Amino acid sequence: MDYAEIIDPATGEKVAQYARISDETALEKVQQANSAFKLWKENSYEERAAMMYKLAEVMEEKKEEYAKLATQEMGKTIGQARKELEKCALICRYYADNTKKLLANEKVETEAAKSYVTFQPIGVILAVMPWNFPFYQVIRFAVPAIMAGNTGVLKHASNVQGCAEALEKAFSQAGFPKGIFTNLNIGSKQVKKIIEDENIVAVTLTGSDPAGRSVASIAGQNLKKTVMELGGSDAYIILDDADLEKATDLATYGRLQNNGQTCIAAKRFIVLDAIYDDFLHRFTEKMKKAKMGKPTDEDTYYGPMARHDLRDEIHEQVQKTISQGGRLVLGGNIPEGKGAYYPATILADLKPGMEAFDVELFGPVASVIKAKNEAHAIELANNSQYGLGSGVITGNTERGEKVALQLEAGSSFVNKLVVSDPRLPFGGIKNSGYGRELSGYGIREFVNTKSVWID
Ligand code: NAP
Repeated sequence: MDYAEIIDPATGEKVAQYARISDETALEKVQQANSAFKLWKENSYEERAAMMYKLAEVMEEKKEEYAKLATQEMGKTIGQARKELEKCALICRYYADNTKKLLANEKVETEAAKSYVTFQPIGVILAVMPWNFPFYQVIRFAVPAIMAGNTGVLKHASNVQGCAEALEKAFSQAGFPKGIFTNLNIGSKQVKKIIEDENIVAVTLTGSDPAGRSVASIAGQNLKKTVMELGGSDAYIILDDADLEKATDLATYGRLQNNGQTCIAAKRFIVLDAIYDDFLHRFTEKMKKAKMGKPTDEDTYYGPMARHDLRDEIHEQVQKTISQGGRLVLGGNIPEGKGAYYPATILADLKPGMEAFDVELFGPVASVIKAKNEAHAIELANNSQYGLGSGVITGNTERGEKVALQLEAGSSFVNKLVVSDPRLPFGGIKNSGYGRELSGYGIREFVNTKSVWID
């Protein structure tokens, strides 16, 4: 029997194991999801919404239990885990309130007696999901897909299988019939067979660039639609008129939230020459003060990384950047002890061609880059294989907006860290992926946008 083993990253101890299911069992579950789809698609939006409001309640009632589970499985701080569950409830209510409006028929004036566009569900969607927001990422896919009338099957990251099981139970407790949302505890090698199965109509993946390329190419071979939410190395431009206290508060929180493992985290700080030294000094002081500790302690600012191999990988990236001429200002050492801890680290004076400039660093490591002027800052920000989020910090919002519009990214925020909000589309360009989640744009990814003409 093959198991997904769960190691608490704060202690290095094994806390649970979950038996993987065979290909045959997984395909049977996909078949059941397709049978469930045939009935589910006939329900009204109101009937679906009633269950979605219940799911929001379950997320709130079980908040403490689920938060503890996420903290144990992937190390996020307990406070941030609770916030994640609150956001799940928000998404449930957003789509319960709005799906009918978002997917309403659109009348089109033509020569026909009647012509319009309608949005119909398409079937079973496979979701391949990461561990970094183990509840939220899944909810972000499942809620709109299911409200639109589809059903979903989940291949969750191996290290958060407790969260995956909890999610399946939550849907069941909210009253969703069997087969509407199904957890498949399978390994990544089994994903190909599932994508190829005739009952799967589309695939959504949130994760790394290599996983995305693999899944998208298999889906492409099978002519199945995909949405790809991949990595990022978001640039934040700090203009010379910025309030540096605010800028460094945002930078510290942005880089350390979720223990540095957020796709839309601020990762590359591009600072104008005139304020570079001042910014770096203040930022270093704040990063130094942020408390690293047990994720279960309420006053911990950031906890361990999610897995030991990921911690070792980021340490190698830091060492490589230093060997390429990057300046280590803070951190950069593996602490003693059994947990997968990595300290808040700052690498400065980075240039294109260095690891920490070119590649995503998925941990508590900030890359600081000096720009000669505003135009140079924009050029450096866009000099990236990624294009997920981006930000501008400035004392002049008009100037900030002009800069924001020139950044190559799926979102650009001025004087605020990029966040996902159910009312706005979320996604990337370039190697950060394609397609959108959330808002009306997200829910329309997995529907048949159908033209109807009555002559
Ligand atoms: P990952 O290694 O790509 O894993 C993501 C999921 O893909 C897991 O379920 C994993 O399963 C599965 N997987 C990995 N390789 C696969 C393959 N060849 N075929 C099929 N499935 C495969 O990524 P991660 O380390 O969990 O997450 C970190 C990455 O996700 C970062 O790059 C981050 O920026 C990105 N991310 C993006 C967003 C976004 O919205 N754009 C959000 C969050 C995270 P196993 O666990 O079993 O390997």
